[in-house]
Amino acid sequence: MNVLVTGGAGYVGSHCVRHLCDAAHDVVVLDNLCAGHRAAVDQRARFIEGDLANRTLVRSTLTDGAFDGIMHFAAHLDVGESVSQPLKYYENNVINTVRLLQEMERADIRRFVFSSTCATYGVPASVPITEDIPQSPINPYGHTKLAMEWAMRDCAEAWGLGACALRYFNASGAAEDGTIGEDHHPEPHLIPIVLQVALGQRENVKIFGVDYPTPDGTAVRDYIHMDDLARAHLLALDSQEPGTFRYYNVGTGTGTSVKEVIDAARRVTGHEIPAIPSPRRPGDPPELYADPTKIMTELGWKPKFTNIEPVIASAWKWHQAHPNGFADES
Ligand code: UDP
Repeated sequence: MNVLVTGGAGYVGSHCVRHLCDAAHDVVVLDNLCAGHRAAVDQRARFIEGDLANRTLVRSTLTDGAFDGIMHFAAHLDVGESVSQPLKYYENNVINTVRLLQEMERADIRRFVFSSTCATYGVPASVPITEDIPQSPINPYGHTKLAMEWAMRDCAEAWGLGACALRYFNASGAAEDGTIGEDHHPEPHLIPIVLQVALGQRENVKIFGVDYPTPDGTAVRDYIHMDDLARAHLLALDSQEPGTFRYYNVGTGTGTSVKEVIDAARRVTGHEIPAIPSPRRPGDPPELYADPTKIMTELGWKPKFTNIEPVIASAWKWHQAHPNGFADES
C-alpha cells in the first residue's frame, strides 16, 4: 500500500514507519520536526518536512501521493501542557486533524489509523479497562483525542471513511536493534527518566505517589512495547473497511507499578537508581491497564512483550547507545 504517516518522525510514528517499510509498504512521512527527529525516519521512507496547518501542502501531498491510507500521529501529547495551554491542543489535535480528514475526503482516501489514548477513559471505575466503559477524559489532551474519535465515527457514517482509533496505554521501549527510541524534551515519562538516572544524567527519580490504593502504594500502568504497538497499527490498516469506525485498546493486559518499573530497571542496568517518595502528580489515576481482548479477537493481535524487563532492556539499549537522544545522530 501507499501510506502517508503524519508525525512519522516521532516516537510511535517512527517505529510504525519502520514496520511499514519492513512489510514492503511505500511510505511517505509528513512531519514538522517540532517534536520529531529527522534521524528517526527510516531511510526507505520519503520525508516531507511540513506542517499539517499548511493546507496547500497537505492538499498537494494527498493529491499527488495516490495514498491507500493514512496513519496519523502528528499531535501534541503532553497532558500537563494541555491543561495550561488548551487551545494549542485544540488547534493542532482537532483543527489540523479535521482539515486532514477534509483533504482525505477530497482525495477519496478511505483508510485512517488514528493514535488515540487510554486518557480518553479518564479515571475508570474499574480495571482492566474494556472499550465499552464510558469515555470521560479529565484533561484537554484526552478531550481532543475523544473529539477526533467522534469525528471519525461521523465521517465513517457520512462518506465511507474506514477509520480505526487505537487507544494506547503506556507506549514504551525501543526498537530491538537500539537504533530508534524515545527522545522527548522535556522528558515526562517514567522509563526514560529512570534510565537517565542509571546513566548518571539525573540524580534520582521521584516516585509520584506512594499512598495509592494499590498493592505497593505506587501507581499502576500498562507498558506496551513499541514493536507490539506498531504491529497493531499495521493490522488496523490492513483490516479496514470503508464506512466502518473501529476502536481498540492496545495494552498488554498487565499492570506494573512505579516501584516494579524501578526495580526492573535496577536489575536490567545493574545501577542503584535512587528513588525519592514524592507527592502524587495531579491528574494521575491510581491504576490503568487494558483488557486487550477485543483487538486480540478481532485483529489477531497478541503482544510479544508481556514482561516489563525486556521492555526496559530494549529502552536501555537505545539510551546507552544514544545518551543524548537523536542529537547523537547529527
Ligand atoms: N512517574 C513517576 N515519576 C516520574 C515520572 C512518572 O513516579 O518521574 C509515574 C507517573 O506518576 C505515573 C507513571 O509513573 O503513575 C507513568 O507515568 P508516565 O508519565 O510515564 O506515563 P502516563 O501514565 O502519565 O501516561
